[in-house]
Amino acid sequence: MSKILHRTIGTTLPKAIAGAGIYIVDSNGRSYLDGSGGAAVSCLGHNHPEVLDAMKMQMGRISYAHTSFFTTDVAEQLAEQLIELAPKGLDYVYLVSGGSEAVEAALKMARQYFVEIDQPQRRHIIARRQSYHGNTIGALATGGNAWRRAQFKPILPETHHVSPCYAYRDLQVAETHEAYAERLAAELEAKILQLGPDMVMAFVAEPVVGATLGAVGPVAGYFKRVRQICDKYGILLILDEVMCGMGRTGTIFALEQEGIVPDIVTIAKGLGGGFQPIGAVLLSEEIYRAFADGSGLFQHGHTYIGHPIAAAAASKVVEILTRPEMMENVIRMGDRLQAGLDEALGQSPYVGDIRGRGLFRGVEIVADKDTKQPFDPSRKIHSRVKKEAMHRGLMCYPMGGTIDGIQGDHVLLAPPYIVQPEQIDLIVERLSDAIRAAVAG
Ligand code: PLP
Repeated sequence: MSKILHRTIGTTLPKAIAGAGIYIVDSNGRSYLDGSGGAAVSCLGHNHPEVLDAMKMQMGRISYAHTSFFTTDVAEQLAEQLIELAPKGLDYVYLVSGGSEAVEAALKMARQYFVEIDQPQRRHIIARRQSYHGNTIGALATGGNAWRRAQFKPILPETHHVSPCYAYRDLQVAETHEAYAERLAAELEAKILQLGPDMVMAFVAEPVVGATLGAVGPVAGYFKRVRQICDKYGILLILDEVMCGMGRTGTIFALEQEGIVPDIVTIAKGLGGGFQPIGAVLLSEEIYRAFADGSGLFQHGHTYIGHPIAAAAASKVVEILTRPEMMENVIRMGDRLQAGLDEALGQSPYVGDIRGRGLFRGVEIVADKDTKQPFDPSRKIHSRVKKEAMHRGLMCYPMGGTIDGIQGDHVLLAPPYIVQPEQIDLIVERLSDAIRAAVAG
């Protein structure tokens, strides 16, 4: 009997003993094609030799130095690399150890910024329904997934939610994308006015929604309108790129495709590529200045922030991501994945929508394609897809509650950026078989 409190109790998990390229091998010698990078983490596959070497090299120098005593070359270098790559207007980096930590730090940063600039009344956070921002208390409160929040609601800090930008289900008949973006912008503005225009501190959103919606990007112009509204009321825009960032959508930052610059960005997952737990918050000069000219500190910190081995791994991952062939492959293989899924599943009566950007794709499963009626949640189609896929040697990332936290099923695909054409075809084949088996069962 395992002494670990596993995520689900009473199921037997295979034991991963090795990883190579885009495969994980278990103790029975079965290999699994990692079609989801775990949870959109393993962007360079498993055991990438260059990243392992960078970590070993750092281990030989210094493995840990507390950030209240020292900085390190690797942490400084990683911060420089990130700012070099980030859109102009993001100027400083705060290193953490994962996505939830990044979101928590971003929220506290936003709050302290308003204290520093003498607007201490600003305290409200607005985010979107059907979003996921992490599982710590502040991040969970920010996320808008009803099921994840339900039992913890009594202990969550107050947050507010508006509609996501989810064209497949919410775009109205004859409504243009422009009109839809405008409708959502009006909803955000109404929420701000309801809370008090000088009471809101931040609007938080994933540029491309991952875990809770399944690779849903915004309609054109949506984030431009959001940026304008935040500016109009002096609200900080926090974009959460923990899942969709670091090249996943074909650009290093997903927000590059929206033509806007937020005040704060959170990244993690692909930043460390799974080689080390690491996340980061990128912030504007304006926020940095408020801290520097005010109290002179950011009142936050964790024992492992700026960890040298994590920074060494991330620094190498980032260097590899910026090689020209990497984003090219994400775009080419992403197009191939979309085309393959369209061909294999586009006519299926049980597939309502196939969407995404780069190597970040989602398949929404429905009971009736015409009405978009979801399957009865009690059938747990998403769990069945996962099981059927694992039987076929495919890791994918299905989730239920797509529509409202309870109803709806989708599958998220996020293979490593080193994936090859024949492996894409294998992902399509295995996933199509798994979905067919899951709905038939
Ligand atoms: N934000 C987003 C958008 C995520 O997708 C996730 C994890 O899936 C998180 C935050 C939380 O990250 P972590 O699981 O590393 O704490």
